[in-house]
Amino acid sequence: MTKFSDLNLNPKVLKAIDEAGYESPTPIQAGAIPPALEGRDVLGIAQTGTGKTASFTLPLITMLARGRARARMPRSLVLCPTRELAAQVAENFDTYAKHVKLTKALLIGGVSFKEQDILIDKGVDVLIATPGRLLDHFERGKLILNDVKVMVVDEADRMLDMGFIPDIERIFGLTPFTRQTLFFSATMAPEIERITNTFLSNPERIEVARQATASETIEQGVVMFKGSRKDREGSEKRKVLRLIIDGEGEKCTNAIIFCNRKTDVDTVAKSLKKYGYDAAPIHGDLDQSQRTRTLEGFRNGELRFLVASDVAARGLDVPSVSHVFNFDVPSHAEDYVHRIGRTGRAGRDGKAMMICVPRDEKNFDAIEKLIQKEIPRLDNPLGTKAPEPADTNPDDKVEDKPKRTRRPRKAKDDAPHAEEVKADAPMQEVEAKETPKPEQEATAKASSSRGGRSSDRGGRGKGRNDDRGGNKVVGLGDHTPTFIQLSFDERRAS
Ligand code: AMP
Repeated sequence: MTKFSDLNLNPKVLKAIDEAGYESPTPIQAGAIPPALEGRDVLGIAQTGTGKTASFTLPLITMLARGRARARMPRSLVLCPTRELAAQVAENFDTYAKHVKLTKALLIGGVSFKEQDILIDKGVDVLIATPGRLLDHFERGKLILNDVKVMVVDEADRMLDMGFIPDIERIFGLTPFTRQTLFFSATMAPEIERITNTFLSNPERIEVARQATASETIEQGVVMFKGSRKDREGSEKRKVLRLIIDGEGEKCTNAIIFCNRKTDVDTVAKSLKKYGYDAAPIHGDLDQSQRTRTLEGFRNGELRFLVASDVAARGLDVPSVSHVFNFDVPSHAEDYVHRIGRTGRAGRDGKAMMICVPRDEKNFDAIEKLIQKEIPRLDNPLGTKAPEPADTNPDDKVEDKPKRTRRPRKAKDDAPHAEEVKADAPMQEVEAKETPKPEQEATAKASSSRGGRSSDRGGRGKGRNDDRGGNKVVGLGDHTPTFIQLSFDERRAS
């Protein structure tokens, strides 16, 4: 078996790996690190949970350990689809580069430009960014990409879902032709294939097993549920969720609860809280500091239930999540794989339970087809008999009210995400683009006519408003997570 010491990594990087407690490289690391260190382009087809972040971070640190960055000219670039993922890559970078003197900056939407500019002005070795925010800095003349030696694109398939491909193409064009590219995607959609054919030069292709086949440590189950009446379905479904959670008892130490719609993320979190569960929501409409706070709380065990949308939770690495509850059946089968992959990580056991209502059965079938496995049916904890009206908490009816203002049922059933696109503010473009649907294309086109950029542009507006200065750490506004704060403080002190 390959050992880390066989991979030609910098000894200081090996020391950090040892301190992180890793015994041997994962398949994506064993496959990607050697060609990356030889200066070759790499095309990694791997999902989150496979150790892919270290597979580009470790060689990047080794390669950058020599040399220094010049003002405004980063030496490497890591592009991530979401702010959370970018922050997570920054955290990985800190872990593995702790014995190497390198500087980094995190450019994400929703936070001040000013302090990000100060860092860039000083010169950074690694720039970790979401595409829109990076281009905003570039357009403001604050950033020169001519010295980028290595460019990493992480989660390219999610970039595609979110409408970032034009941005990525543009960024490729702004970096030197001679740069090295490390490109990662969970799947190879034709558009991703096209990009890699255009911008990668004779890449080493490493494909690791899809998580759908690798998730044997995750016990799965589904409750087939039908509301007693259409207008009670929401509150009854929330009751089913509570009963499932209760049924797991203390085995459920912490959990991510996924909903398809952002409004449901809020409703479910509010409802759980009302019933005494320690829950908080996370989705693209919440402001960045709140998102960061919630995530920090969940990661360090202060928060038990994180109620999330796909985009907000995608790629997040919380090593020990005991349960994933799918309040809704995801409308894209691959999202099921991503969602349940939040549990059962690093060989631990995990449990993933889902609620399926009759209108979701088609999507449910698609999931079973994708994972080539029948998901065991669990007993409906409400029993087969429809609950009496008295079973329904009167307060819950209030929560159902917003649903009455929604669009007619047919359209809603056909396109569960669509209704939120129109009503939502720019910040929501992040999630709106997550699952492009015909109904959303007009919105998408309107935004692309401004230059094709999208997701973290919403954050850009916010960032401008935030440009009021102060001495905060660049990257995460008023509520910088401790791990990032520390790393920047160390750099400042040195
Ligand atoms: P990723 O796929 O990058 O999200 O990584 C998933 C998790 O695996 C993270 O918690 C990493 O800290 C962990 N990890 C990465 N490489 C290794 C390794 N070689 N051995 C054990 N755990 C690892």
